[in-house]
Amino acid sequence: MIFSKKQRTQRTITVTKQARDGILTYCKMNHPNEGILILRGKYKKGQVLVDGLVIPPFFHTGPTFAGFPHTFLPLDESYVGTVHSHPNGVAKPSVTDLHNFFGFVSIIVQSPYEDDDLFAYDRDGNLLELTVIQDEI
Ligand SMILES: [Zn+2]
Repeated sequence: MIFSKKQRTQRTITVTKQARDGILTYCKMNHPNEGILILRGKYKKGQVLVDGLVIPPFFHTGPTFAGFPHTFLPLDESYVGTVHSHPNGVAKPSVTDLHNFFGFVSIIVQSPYEDDDLFAYDRDGNLLELTVIQDEI
């Protein structure tokens, strides 16, 4: 994979502990299939705050791919991205993941879905800093 060397404004991702725990539980429930959720929150000046989760309509899932038709999504500006799991334990975005990028951030959770198994990526597959906060802002 080729990564851009250009310096850009670093996007930072903040996830509430409650949302993080919800993601991990959902991923564990779907294992060994991939689970996918829509991230709800706020986007402001390159900063993404995730404080809620939405189960996407009409989603399909399998051991190596989870997705949903974006055309069925209501236009909602509180949808800031998606999260899905990689049951194989490697949180690297696939070509399919990048083609299906939605919103501002794509979070991938690798098995075994522990607290440190969340990784955030931008549209180009660059790893972003992800911070978990205790309470909602
Ligand atoms: Zn994936």
